[in-house]
Amino acid sequence: MNYADSSLDIPEQEPCAFCDYLSGARPFTILCRNDLVAVLVTREQRGIGHLLILPVRHYPTLLESESHERHAMMDTLAWAASAIDAAFERPGIAVWQNNGTTAHQAIPHLHFHIAGTLPDGGTDFDDVPELTVEQTGHIAEQILAAAPPNGPCSPAS
Ligand SMILES: [Zn+2]
Repeated sequence: MNYADSSLDIPEQEPCAFCDYLSGARPFTILCRNDLVAVLVTREQRGIGHLLILPVRHYPTLLESESHERHAMMDTLAWAASAIDAAFERPGIAVWQNNGTTAHQAIPHLHFHIAGTLPDGGTDFDDVPELTVEQTGHIAEQILAAAPPNGPCSPAS
C-alpha cells in the first residue's frame, strides 16, 4: 500500500532527469540497478562517495512508494553504506531524503542521498562543483571495487 493523495508541493520538471538517466536518454553514472531500484553517482558530490538510491518506477515522494520498493531501497541503502565505508573509510555516513519543494526536493522522482562525511565533518549543502560523468564514473569504479559482494543490485554495464 502507499500513502498518496498528499498535500506535498512537488517540484515541476519535464521530462524527469532521473528517468532520462535510467533510460539512457542523458548520460549519467549508474553504479548498479535491478528491476526495482537504481544507484546513481551524483555529479554534485556533497560528501565523499555521494550516491543516490531511487526506485526505477517514476513517482515523486516517499508517500507514493510501495512496500516492496521501500524494502528494496533500504536494503540498497545498507549495501551502499557498506560499500562507501569499504571504499573511503569515513568516520561518518549520512543518509537524507527530501519530500516537497519546501523540503528542498528539486527533482520530482523519489531519491535517497547517502554520502560519507567530509574531512571537516558533515556534508556540504552550499554550492559544490559539478563533476563530469567521467569523474563520477571513476567514483563508481572505486566504490564497486571495494563493495561487498552479492549486493542487492547488479553493476550496470
Ligand atoms: Zn522519473
